[in-house]
Amino acid sequence: MNVTRSILTLALVIVTQQALGPQAWGQGAPAPDLEAIVAHPKIVKTLDDIKADDERAFAEQKRITEIPAPPFKEKVRAEFYQKRMQELGFKDASIDGEGNVIALRKGTGGGRPKLVVSAHLDTVFPEGTDVAVKEKDGGIVAPGIGDDSRGLAALLSLIKAMNANEIATVGDILFVGTVGEEELGNLRGVKALFRDHTDIDGFISIDGLGITRVVNRATGSHRYEFIFKGPGGHSFQEFGLPSAIHAMGRAIAKISELQTPSDPRTTFTVGTVSGGTSVNAIAAEARMAVDMRSNSTDELLKLEAQLLDLVKLAVVEENARWKSDKMTLEIKLIGDRPAGIVAMDSPIVQATQRTVAAVARGPQVTFAGSSTDSNMAMSLGIPAVTIGGGGEGGNWHSRNEWYKPVNAWYGPQNALLTVLMLTGLDGVTKPALQVRKAAK
Ligand SMILES: [Zn+2]
Repeated sequence: MNVTRSILTLALVIVTQQALGPQAWGQGAPAPDLEAIVAHPKIVKTLDDIKADDERAFAEQKRITEIPAPPFKEKVRAEFYQKRMQELGFKDASIDGEGNVIALRKGTGGGRPKLVVSAHLDTVFPEGTDVAVKEKDGGIVAPGIGDDSRGLAALLSLIKAMNANEIATVGDILFVGTVGEEELGNLRGVKALFRDHTDIDGFISIDGLGITRVVNRATGSHRYEFIFKGPGGHSFQEFGLPSAIHAMGRAIAKISELQTPSDPRTTFTVGTVSGGTSVNAIAAEARMAVDMRSNSTDELLKLEAQLLDLVKLAVVEENARWKSDKMTLEIKLIGDRPAGIVAMDSPIVQATQRTVAAVARGPQVTFAGSSTDSNMAMSLGIPAVTIGGGGEGGNWHSRNEWYKPVNAWYGPQNALLTVLMLTGLDGVTKPALQVRKAAK
């Protein structure tokens, strides 16, 4: 890359972004000077190094993919990740009690602000899944190749370039490979992280691919399993007893009629049902799993309260129908992800808007709601975004997940600029991230 030209192009793009203005950075603080960051010779070199590292990073992405990391069984991949962090300069990289891989990169500012930059180690795929990487149509196919092997590889590429160029930030950075992001992991990794570290001022998850999609809203979800239990009996001889399936049917009919707002988007579904043993038996047991989601915690809790009441009412009605008290209900919470939102004028959101424009030269950022590791931070009121690791792909959570390394280096380049805006480049800019008041 022609260095002088790349600075000019970046500077030009940044000028067009000035419309956001310093007032957008909240509390009257001036916007960090992205132009000064990208024009700094060390940063020009670091951005070029990241691009030059593209092929190696892609190879590492494939290698990570071929180390299975089923939910709750991320250990082998975590050990590999810890070793890689150590090789890249973090001698003290460690694995915490929950299984997260953590490396602290000290800034010059005495520890604050502290920014987490993370990607998740786990996949949705169970033990025994064939995770071999296969070439197909100019791209590659493998379970988890994008989600989140790309994020993990982009994070290592970022670390490699920052350490090799001895980039000094003002704030501290905690680089983390998290466990338990997917499904029944229920964000156990980040939950432990925020429990153990009460001084985190901002959070970035690299999860997803294209850098123009930024997640600033956390879709919360609560999931339940309901188990209906009754006496059971012969359909003819013991007619008159309450039925677990009938009780569940009553519950589903009531749930089907629930009304939820479209803004904030709030949804529900009975996802799976099972039960009964035979066509000529009054069912002794029936089970259903229910998923509820919302971009608002209030709406999620409101929906949850209504839905739980309706299921209990269904059991009462089934008992009343047969003048019985034999039908019982067991309620199990099987999923709990908090909701939250980061305001558009928050420095972390503004930073991504400007860095994406600088790296990708033009395209606008689309802001989205999703369920990622950032949910936990957002629910705690800690500024957070989920950004893309670079490249293109699809068929998430399927064995046919595919990936193509198209402009893949944009991911770590964008992460670098975002990190520097938020933590400050020593001697050049101040951190945009504000130090939070001590958590209770
Ligand atoms: Zn993911």
